[in-house]
Amino acid sequence: MEKIKMQTPLVEMDGDEMTRILWQMIKDELIHPFVDLKTEYYDLGLKHRNETDDQVTIDSAEATKKYGVAVKCATITPNAARMTEYNLKEMWKSPNGTIRAILDGTVFRTPIIVKGIEPYVKNWQKPITIARHAYGDVYKATEMKVDGPGKAELVFTAEDGTEKRALIHEFKGAGVLQGQHNINQSIESFARSCFAYALDRKEELWFSSKDTISKQYDHTFKDIFAEIFEKEYKAKFEEAGITYFYTLIDDAVARVMKSQGGFIWACKNYDGDVMSDMISSAFGSLAMMTSVLVSPQGYYEYEAAHGTVQRHYYKHLNGEETSTNSIATIFAWSGAFRKRGELDHLPELCRYADALEKASLSTIESGRMTKDLALITTLPNPTVLNSENFIKAIREELAKLL
Ligand code: NAP
Ligand code: MG
Repeated sequence: MEKIKMQTPLVEMDGDEMTRILWQMIKDELIHPFVDLKTEYYDLGLKHRNETDDQVTIDSAEATKKYGVAVKCATITPNAARMTEYNLKEMWKSPNGTIRAILDGTVFRTPIIVKGIEPYVKNWQKPITIARHAYGDVYKATEMKVDGPGKAELVFTAEDGTEKRALIHEFKGAGVLQGQHNINQSIESFARSCFAYALDRKEELWFSSKDTISKQYDHTFKDIFAEIFEKEYKAKFEEAGITYFYTLIDDAVARVMKSQGGFIWACKNYDGDVMSDMISSAFGSLAMMTSVLVSPQGYYEYEAAHGTVQRHYYKHLNGEETSTNSIATIFAWSGAFRKRGELDHLPELCRYADALEKASLSTIESGRMTKDLALITTLPNPTVLNSENFIKAIREELAKLL
């Protein structure tokens, strides 16, 4: 078979530990035999981040702005233990945080649905994607304990010295206080990323907050979404046959539970933190969750939602067999290929992406899977494969499809 041609390179961000091992296996078994792979390679493995003073992370994000589509392997976010393990010069920041800040993007997380791994909510037939706003609110709050009676006020001092004040509470005894903020520019980027992604997926977009209680703060979120939708996206949504709607967070929760899935749920920072864990657990497994960072300008960075699977890596280093699930990492690649194919008008590349996903799912549906899935599957007598043989089984299916 002639290999599928690419035009523009993908930005390839290599990573750490077990996922780095899977990364190479996926390229060798599932990509190189079928695609004439073009990438601009950035090694985001912790060793190389340390050698380059983390410049490589910044460079890879800048390259994503240049080319538009990146695929990223899971990476270690250093902590005290990693400082010694890798003899680090500094406790480098989370690469995902650095890339997100440069691309000003929003992260969308979507479960991968397959027969045999059933969601706990029985009416969910299609994936529910969570979009979490990743700036401000309680994550950048200032807090204070007060020991006794007194008056708490919000004070804003403008650059010209004029003040705005609002009473928070007249304390009669001890209590607690918290000051939160957000900025319109960040909310606008969040809204644009959500609208762009809904159009990309051709899925309905929901946004929820608590504007009935929070008449200025949450209401600003609601207003910004509404204004940007009216001005920039309404016509495009109509053309695509999808809708946007806003509802209260408690109403959204009730609707989500009764829905069949197949939509994007945009959440404020804290809501998104909580709801994404709820959605991923209810769909079955973190190893079956993809993640894509979408910038308001329409740059895409695809990855798996899970980490580097450190425990499996140490087993691997000890020469023990591992059964690590590569599905989310494979779907990061297929997502990136599909997007590249769409942008460069390469239908062959899109078909390859579809086939790669189909082959991965039909392998599981045939009863061949990794240990994490075998533990939760409803299929009878699953065959547990090791990391490598699982990828090889997918290759067989893929070869049949292509
Ligand atoms: P993790 O890598 O997600 O793994 C936690 C546990 O979940 C594993 O030990 C394993 O359970 C299970 N698991 C996750 N993915 C799996 C897969 N593909 N196949 C089978 N089982 C899977 O989280 P972690 O161990 O807490 O973090 C390890 C490193 O990843 C950390 O250094 C962290 O900074 C980094 N991290 C990176 C990202 C990212 O780059 N996006 C995200 C999160 C964490 P069992 O051991 O029980 O089999
Ligand atoms: Mg959380």
